Amino acid sequence: MIRELAYIGVASPRHEEWLTYGTEVLGCGLGPRGGDGAVRLRVDDAVHRITIRPGDRDELLYTGWAFTNEAELAAYLERLRLAGVDVTPGTVDECRDRGVAELAWVTDPWGMRHEFVSGQHRRPGTFWPGRPLSGFVADDFGLGHVVLIVPDLAEANAFYGDILGFTLSDRVDEELMKVRFYHCNGRHHSLAVAQVPGKVGFNHLMLEVNSLDDVGTGLDLAKRAGAPVLRGLGRHTNDLMTSFYMLTPSSFQIEYGFGGIVVDDLTWVASTNDRPSLWGHELTEAGRTTAPGILHDAERVTA
Ligand code: FE
Repeated sequence: MIRELAYIGVASPRHEEWLTYGTEVLGCGLGPRGGDGAVRLRVDDAVHRITIRPGDRDELLYTGWAFTNEAELAAYLERLRLAGVDVTPGTVDECRDRGVAELAWVTDPWGMRHEFVSGQHRRPGTFWPGRPLSGFVADDFGLGHVVLIVPDLAEANAFYGDILGFTLSDRVDEELMKVRFYHCNGRHHSLAVAQVPGKVGFNHLMLEVNSLDDVGTGLDLAKRAGAPVLRGLGRHTNDLMTSFYMLTPSSFQIEYGFGGIVVDDLTWVASTNDRPSLWGHELTEAGRTTAPGILHDAERVTA
């Protein structure tokens, strides 16, 4: 089964800004630049986990999911094929670019690309944060979590839950916000899908840091750097993460948080929350006037 969120790749006309935003605000380490000029960021000993490529418009290019080893990956891909999913093998160049040994990819019903990999390249003992920071909760928990926008939650669950095999953590069900949260390791969720009728896209990437002070200094630095804060400090009902949301140079958001719970499948029961936050996470003026991420009109690309 899928073991962790390994990486994401985004295209953006403002990719160069990530050299400073990614290090000085987020506290990521810098990885090697891509051949196309991509900025690559690290949060742990993996060679890179966030890639921002040059592009004409902001776009989520792919999300990468790691397996324990190549045999686990091969067995999983075979199950997908038997379920009728179109699985495309990755090329040597793609493996080199992503920093993995094996790669294959699929698209969800609306065309969002998911890559399944094993053998992610690591350089033990080499991670150094880009600003004073106690570090990220990553390694075996993966990069963090991604929240994708989908037009229909039931259809999304048929793909992400039933076919890809993500385990439901819980739901938020309120009038304006319907979200399903999924885990693939102890992190409460590595993936969530939020329903926006008629739309598909990428809402946010969550990065979890090791101390509340790292969140506070991140908030100060975001304001100083002019990165719009879209939701103020707050604490989520489900994963108990204390976090805030800011707009990145590339239209999606970063949730920057601390203190997420760890779930254990032996005891975890999926509940439903009627609101997303215990306190805070109030929309700012910028939050009220900014689109919720990189958004496109939804078009079904697979049956
Ligand atoms: Fe989140």
